[in-house]
Amino acid sequence: GATLHIAGLAKEYKANTPVLKDISLDISNEGLTAVIGPSGTGKSTLLRCINRLIEPTAGAIILQDDGTRIDLAKVRGAALRQARRRIGMVFQEYNLVERLTVMENLLTGRLGYVSAFNAWRRRFEAADIEYAFDLLDTVGLSGFANQRADALSGGQRQRVGIARALMQRPQLLLADEPTSSLDPKTSVEIMELLIEQGDAFHIPVIVNIHDVELAKRYASRIIGMSGGTIVYDGPPAELSNDM
Ligand code: ADP
Ligand code: ADP
Repeated sequence: GATLHIAGLAKEYKANTPVLKDISLDISNEGLTAVIGPSGTGKSTLLRCINRLIEPTAGAIILQDDGTRIDLAKVRGAALRQARRRIGMVFQEYNLVERLTVMENLLTGRLGYVSAFNAWRRRFEAADIEYAFDLLDTVGLSGFANQRADALSGGQRQRVGIARALMQRPQLLLADEPTSSLDPKTSVEIMELLIEQGDAFHIPVIVNIHDVELAKRYASRIIGMSGGTIVYDGPPAELSNDM
């Protein structure tokens, strides 16, 4: 599987106000890595740097897999767009296109939110459609292809969010507070689905989560953040109770 090697990562949105400070981190493990820590501590900024929704101020983010090696912190233009396709992202608010069907959301993918209209002009390969149906089975939504996103429950929407991320055939799966809009029972189902899919595709899964109990229960590795730095990195069992 892919490995992620982060070194000296820093981010400031405003000059002299660091939000991430010299983060170094290696992720080569399969299984779920949970990033925990108080609100405002930089968890979301970290994931957004990895997915390059924002540009880091300094540091390297090396994504390596078989023959390929890329520094996500430094790529630009077409290479950046290509690199981002290697990273699947799942969001707290699902980020589906509400008026499109489940199948349309999967097929238009990230294009959907940029311009669903333009996406219609794209032709889809039969293989893409077949793969989308397979993924719907995988996430427990067979039979939902023609439902509109706005007719689904939160848990079902998040399942679509996960299937959409998997459509990219990603080398890494990121999830930013994927359960924060869901009830406890559904949260557990979504955590289990993320672990299951990470294992099935042999890809690392990194999840930001403010619920420490949920993190301890499902993660094989916990990264604790505070004030833009990593203050804990290890198994859940050794995490002190005050985190
Ligand atoms: P967390 O995910 O741990 O809650 P965030 O990464 O969202 O933390 O935020 C860390 C800090 O960065 C906060 O002080 C937040 O206000 C600030 N921040 C986040 N996004 C932006 C932005 N786009 N512009 C300016 N400041 C931001
Ligand atoms: P491309 O140029 O390949 O279409 P995009 O800029 O559309 O790439 O998306 C690249 C990355 O941004 C993907 O990893 C995707 O998961 C993520 N992304 C950002 N915002 C969204 C969103 N609202 N919905 C879905 N994916 C998003």
